[in-house]
Amino acid sequence: ASPSEPLPIRRLQESVINRIAAGEIIHRPASALKELIENSLDAHSTSIRVTIKDGGMRLLQIQDDGCGIRKSDLPILAERFTTSKISTFSDLSKLTTYGFRGEALASISYVAEMTVTTKTKADSCAWKACYSDGALVPFKQGATAEPKATAGTDGTTITVENLFYNTPTRLSALRGSAEEYARILDVVTKYAVHNPHVAFTCRKANSNSPDVTTPSGSTVTQAIRQLYGQTIAKDLVHSVISSPNESGESDDDPTWSAEAYYTNANYHAKKTVFLLFINHRLVESTQIKKALETVYTGILPKGTSPFIYLSLQLDPRTVDVNVHPTKREVHFLDEDAIIESICDKIQQSLVAQSQSRSFEYQT
Ligand code: ADP
Ligand code: MG
Repeated sequence: ASPSEPLPIRRLQESVINRIAAGEIIHRPASALKELIENSLDAHSTSIRVTIKDGGMRLLQIQDDGCGIRKSDLPILAERFTTSKISTFSDLSKLTTYGFRGEALASISYVAEMTVTTKTKADSCAWKACYSDGALVPFKQGATAEPKATAGTDGTTITVENLFYNTPTRLSALRGSAEEYARILDVVTKYAVHNPHVAFTCRKANSNSPDVTTPSGSTVTQAIRQLYGQTIAKDLVHSVISSPNESGESDDDPTWSAEAYYTNANYHAKKTVFLLFINHRLVESTQIKKALETVYTGILPKGTSPFIYLSLQLDPRTVDVNVHPTKREVHFLDEDAIIESICDKIQQSLVAQSQSRSFEYQT
C-alpha cells in the first residue's frame, strides 16, 4: 500500500490489551511490590516478609499472616476488576482500604508467572493456585488448573516469577538488579515506618540476613531508629497538625490532619529523605517536598537537607483516588492552604527549638 493510503483499523487481541494495561500499573518490581504490600495490609496482616531474587525480576515473594483468600474466590482472583473492597461507585468516596480497583493481581498475572498460596482461619489446609493472563493455569502441562490442597499457615503468600518475560520493552527499561533492589528496599522501608505495628522483613533469596527488618508493635520513632539510624532518630521532632476547623464549626471546609516526624537543626544530610503518605498510600509530591525544604533553608547550613516523614489524612472526598495508578503525584482540594498550615507549624516548632538552644527534645 502507498504511504498515503490509510491502514485498516483492527481490534487488538484481548491478551495484548491486557498486557499493555498491566504495564501501565506494574512499571517495575517495586511497583508490583507496593501493590502486594498494600493488599497484605488491607488483609490486616501483622507480619509481612519479602524475598527477592535478581532485583525482583526473577522472584518477588511476599508472605503475610493476614485474613487469607477463600478457596471459592480463587478462580476469579486474577481477573480484572474483581475486588472484595468496593461494590458500588459511591463506595469510592469513603474508601478505607488501599485497593479498590481489583487490577493489581490481574496486572501481575499478565506480565509474570504468579502463584498464590493462601489459607483462611476457617480452612483446614492451604490452597495453592497458579495464574497467567488473568486465569487459573495448571501447575504443569497436562495437570488441571484447579487449586491444589497444600500445607500452610494462615495468611497468603504470593510468588511472582519472571516479571515482564512477555513484555521485552518493559524489561529493557529496567535498571540493573542492584538498582531495582534498592527501590524495593525503599518501598519496604517506607511502609515499615508508616506501619510500625506490623513486622516487616526484606531479604535476598540467597541470604539469611534480611536487609530490612522491623519487629511488630513498634512505634514510629523506634521504626525510624531501626531503619534510618540513631543519628536521625535522636534529632526528631514530632508534630500533630490539624485543620483550623477541626472543631467542626463549619461543615463546608473539609477537615484534615497531619502527623509529621522531622529532624531539627542538629541534623543535616546531603539529600532530603522524604516519606509522604496520603490516606496511608505512599505517594510523591514535588510541591510538598519543595515547600518543606524551603522551611529548612534558614535553619540548616546551605546545601544540606532534612529527614521528613509526613502522614496526611484528608477527607476521602477531596482526594481523587481514582486517578490513574501511574500518577504517583497526587493532588487534592485546598492543597496550597493545607501545605502552608503544615509548613507554618513545622517552622514554628523548629524555631522554638533552636531558640531554646536545648536540643534534647525527643519523642
Ligand atoms: P484490590 O486490592 O484493588 O481489591 P487486587 O487485584 O490487588 O485488587 O486484589 C484482588 C482481591 O484479592 C482483593 O480485593 C482481596 O480480596 C484479595 N487479596 C489480594 N491479596 C490479598 C492478601 N494478601 N490477603 C488477602 N486477600 C488478598
Ligand atoms: Mg490491591
